[in-house]
Amino acid sequence: MFRYVDGRLWCEDVDLAEIAERAGTPCYVYSARTILDAYKTYDESFNGVPHMICYAVKANSTLAVLSLLARAGSGFDIVSGGELFRVLQAGGDASRVVFSGVGKTPAEIEMALANGIRNFNCESESELAELDAVAAKLGMIANFSLRVNPDVDAATHPYISTGLRDHKFGVDIHEAPAIYRRSRVFSNIRASGVSCHIGSQILDYSPILEAAGKVLALVEELQANGFPIDHVDLGGGLGIAYKSADRAPEIGDFVRALKERIGRDRLAVMVEPGRSIVGPAGVLLTRVLYRKKTPSKEFVVVDAAMNDLIRPSLYRSHHDILPLNHAPDTPLVADVVGPVCETGDFLARDRAMADAQPGDFLALSSAGAYGFVQASNYNSRPRAPEVLVEGSEWRIVRERETFQDLIRGERI
Ligand SMILES: *Cc1c(COP(=O)(O)O)cnc(C)c1O
Repeated sequence: MFRYVDGRLWCEDVDLAEIAERAGTPCYVYSARTILDAYKTYDESFNGVPHMICYAVKANSTLAVLSLLARAGSGFDIVSGGELFRVLQAGGDASRVVFSGVGKTPAEIEMALANGIRNFNCESESELAELDAVAAKLGMIANFSLRVNPDVDAATHPYISTGLRDHKFGVDIHEAPAIYRRSRVFSNIRASGVSCHIGSQILDYSPILEAAGKVLALVEELQANGFPIDHVDLGGGLGIAYKSADRAPEIGDFVRALKERIGRDRLAVMVEPGRSIVGPAGVLLTRVLYRKKTPSKEFVVVDAAMNDLIRPSLYRSHHDILPLNHAPDTPLVADVVGPVCETGDFLARDRAMADAQPGDFLALSSAGAYGFVQASNYNSRPRAPEVLVEGSEWRIVRERETFQDLIRGERI
């Protein structure tokens, strides 16, 4: 939904330069239609198989984004009590929430149980004991899946690969049957599923299919042993195209391949996509402040920085940089850097890009996932506002922080 119209970059039916001028920069902009189309492609491609799409809230937890998805019928995958709070504030349905993560606190477990979430994806035997204890205290039965580690290589960046044996996530799939068996001593938890999540930004999804095959074999073994397993949860991880040359998988092809592998009438399938739903739907708008040349390099200094979008610094990730006011061209090779006082503060290095001059607006593309959610106030920079575009309408869904916001809760 981002395209050039007469040499100007539009989001849906809005000229992005209008947003940059009125909302100021830096500023995140999201296309509602792109988010909903991705969600619907997941949902519709699962047609014929009982399923639930649990959007991974950590990718983008802005209320307006959660509300869009809640209204479309999405479930949610949360990793903290704060994310559950956001889902509920946005009108999400707790009975469509699953709780993942390796370090749930007793207070978070209690909050989730009291709100009636669907399922806990548990990552250790001691977590099962804690879940049982909290459920007993509330007089409830908690549904759980064990997150298993299928030991497949997701072939992605090491910080976002999670499915190998030496990672902190999940339990070894070979130890899972014994853990399920021992879980029978706990009377306030019920083994309702098996889950896995092998990593993020996976461009070749065959490792996910391989993991699904292993998980399904485990489910059949558990069912044969009398466990009430009613679903498998295959996590998220589908990658998106950050560079125009990237070959990103089609959501529909991926889901059809999964269905072929695991489609059973009486077994529901859950997935937890984050990036593939919101990533392509967002851009970060920024304005060029200065141009600067050293003997070895050209720099384009912009008003967005690593505190706004840390992905390039943290994962060396690439975001295409597009001019807002003319068609893209690449006469310049430069580093695009922000005002933060760190050499690690860059948005692009040695990038072939438009010859952007001070005052020009640029868009960093595919910034809808793991963008604003990882923003910080480093260097006492107020966090950027967020804008949601729906057709020819746009509105600010989170205001730019003020200096007062920066010191909220502080005392001298
Ligand atoms: C991060 C995460 C996801 C979402 O991953 P994406 O790559 O954004 O699709 C899903 N499930 C779990 C358990 C996660 O940690």
